[in-house]
Amino acid sequence: MALSSQKNHINPDAMNIMIESVNLCFDKADAFFGNSFKRSSCNFKQRGRAAGTAHLQKNEIRFNYFMYQQDPEIFISTVVPHEVAHIIVFQIYGGNVKPHGKEWQAVMMKVYGIKPDRTHTFDTPVPKETYQYYCECQEHNFTKQRHTRSLRGTQYICKNCKSTLQFLAIGPNINLEPR
Ligand SMILES: [Zn+2]
Ligand SMILES: [Zn+2]
Repeated sequence: MALSSQKNHINPDAMNIMIESVNLCFDKADAFFGNSFKRSSCNFKQRGRAAGTAHLQKNEIRFNYFMYQQDPEIFISTVVPHEVAHIIVFQIYGGNVKPHGKEWQAVMMKVYGIKPDRTHTFDTPVPKETYQYYCECQEHNFTKQRHTRSLRGTQYICKNCKSTLQFLAIGPNINLEPR
């Protein structure tokens, strides 16, 4: 199965499943602590190598849809409690405890009954291939689209030195900003 697409449309069912799963984790924490924690909002804005992130001040959890799709069940049973546990710890202790310290570990084990794991085993997105060009003054990174246009005859001129860009090599460059 190809896992390369990061532009996949988010299935509205997936969003509902996440909201339910997050709320369920809050319910469990409420029951355990005899509390009523403030529910977080959640979304699928997480990109890159993290499966999810808890934005404590905003009370928001971002999940990585690319990884969710790989195995929704595992994602829901590991990443969701992991991130909700961060929020729970923050609501109890504030911001002065270690992110994956003993408080967070205790929530993972006692509330969710799972191993407090900091890492995930999902595939991470492959860095976009870039196409390195050079002029007389510097290197330039081209997107695939630009490279294709260049191969078809479009000439690109460096704004700085006014010389024509020449193709050098294909290489990954994770800092490339999409144009
Ligand atoms: Zn974490
Ligand atoms: Zn130049």
